[in-house]
Amino acid sequence: MVIIGALLLVGVTVFLILQPILSGMEAPLWSSEDEPSEAQFKKRVSLLQLRDAEYEYAMGKLGEEDYQTLRREISGEALAAIKAEETEAEGAGAGRFEGPTDAELEAEIALVRSRLTGGVFCSACGHPNPAGSRFCGECGDTVQTPETPAGP
Ligand SMILES: [Zn+2]
Repeated sequence: MVIIGALLLVGVTVFLILQPILSGMEAPLWSSEDEPSEAQFKKRVSLLQLRDAEYEYAMGKLGEEDYQTLRREISGEALAAIKAEETEAEGAGAGRFEGPTDAELEAEIALVRSRLTGGVFCSACGHPNPAGSRFCGECGDTVQTPETPAGP
């Protein structure tokens, strides 16, 4: 049962990662760099996984314990990918490139979390937008702000 559960989790995770890519939706964590290296790609995938985990946790789909475990695993993967990216950059002689630090990664996660906890979700695409947003930053649809009064 544990193996089946793990496989199911992997399947769901892969689906969550591929879905926005397949539907041609540009994930906000992806920068406009032309061709990401393998390490850069892995880092982005890890960050997207982390975002998904944050999202599911915020939506109540993921329990506290599962979330902490998942977050630790993905963070480890993300940091490993970042280190690989740095090594890659050094190997290519691109000394000017500076990979994100742990602090920057934490800041990225904190930003995602603040949007999840204080922000509003787009009803069209589910993208978390900052609190007070009137339009979705992802698809441009109008978002429902919970604290907006219905009228006088
Ligand atoms: Zn949207």
